[in-house]
Amino acid sequence: MAEPGYNAVVLRVGELFLKKDNRRWFVDLLVGNLARLIRGLPWKIEVHQGRILLLPQAGSDPAATVPEVLARAGRCFGISSLSPVVRTDSTDPTVLGGLAAELAEATVPPTAKTFRVTARRPNKRLPYTSPELGGLVGHQVGQRLGLAVDLGRPEFEIGVEAGPPTFVYSETRPGAGGLPVGASGRGLLLLSGGIDSPVAGHRMLRRGCPLEVVHFHSPPYTGPAARAKVLELCQVLARWAGPLHLHLIPISELQLQVKEHAPRPLTVLLYRRFMVRLACRLAGFRQIQALITGESLGQVASQTMENLTCIEAVADRPILRPLIAYDKEETIRLAQAIGSYEISIRPHEDSCSLFVPRHPEIRAKIKELNRAEALLPLDRLLAEALDRLETLVVEP
Ligand code: ATP
Ligand code: MG
Repeated sequence: MAEPGYNAVVLRVGELFLKKDNRRWFVDLLVGNLARLIRGLPWKIEVHQGRILLLPQAGSDPAATVPEVLARAGRCFGISSLSPVVRTDSTDPTVLGGLAAELAEATVPPTAKTFRVTARRPNKRLPYTSPELGGLVGHQVGQRLGLAVDLGRPEFEIGVEAGPPTFVYSETRPGAGGLPVGASGRGLLLLSGGIDSPVAGHRMLRRGCPLEVVHFHSPPYTGPAARAKVLELCQVLARWAGPLHLHLIPISELQLQVKEHAPRPLTVLLYRRFMVRLACRLAGFRQIQALITGESLGQVASQTMENLTCIEAVADRPILRPLIAYDKEETIRLAQAIGSYEISIRPHEDSCSLFVPRHPEIRAKIKELNRAEALLPLDRLLAEALDRLETLVVEP
């Protein structure tokens, strides 16, 4: 079988958004994101009505980089589907039929007996209709490969579009979907080294929410392995989002104070409230509107409705919890698809498991927590932790 000879990639944008007034803005945002994701590859972006085309730069051989371009563009939110294509300048149905037959020869499974052609003609000035184009192209493909047309349930489908851009294709992959990153307000993701929080971040990116990330660590109790893990998880998110800011805040001193002075069953909730207070302050400096966590209702003792209420009480902005109603199995499947799972399951020292009691409070009361916190030098601890803030920019 010959290679398909792909020389471009076509991206389709969710039709729904294209009809709104903000279409231009939406497409500009998407193209900017796409440019960041394909940076370093010798490809360029062309925008057409309803289609985005990726083309190799002059002098570069597309064959070597098509798979990588497809993989990267497949992580661009706002794109509903994508196809590797054979692009041409000719709109002559005979030329298109020839290209379609060649492509079919290279890609149709040998067992296939039926096919159909799906034709579109965005360029309304062409001297043929879409069904006519489909018929002409289908005739050539059928003859060359000895296949029969089946419009209902074909074993194989060839697409042809007469534009510009004009191209033939035989494969359509689902895109990342959602909204382009930047279409929604900004979120600060609280990233632990666990399975849930990277998935929570990915869900929000998919809704168009640009992320910064904060991780709380406990030096010297948490070491370089935990740090490396968080960096790698950010790299995974950056493959979908482009470069992102990672803020590291040490909370060991604060944890020692909690251990010393607070009732043991409240330990984890007190840590969480500290994290939320610190994250809110950081979000304030960075002009970020909401916090994002990987919490899921009832998953662990700190995530009962009562305890989530206690955590929420110290926030000065919304805490978004995209996984609140997800089962662990669903989250794991998503983590595997995103590419974070294998990193998350590596063992590490977790700052939240430091000094935690065997029997945590399941239904804490805000009053009890306030009382415990009144015994701690709250403002000093928060200020000292923020003084030691370290910020990195993580590239994909
Ligand atoms: P994960 O898999 O995300 O760790 P989890 O089920 O282990 O979740 P917890 O450890 O109770 O749940 O944490 C709940 C949420 O709190 C996490 O999803 C994360 O958003 C936040 N969180 C916990 N620990 C940290 C940390 N050290 N730094 C930043 N955020 C954290
Ligand atoms: Mg965790």
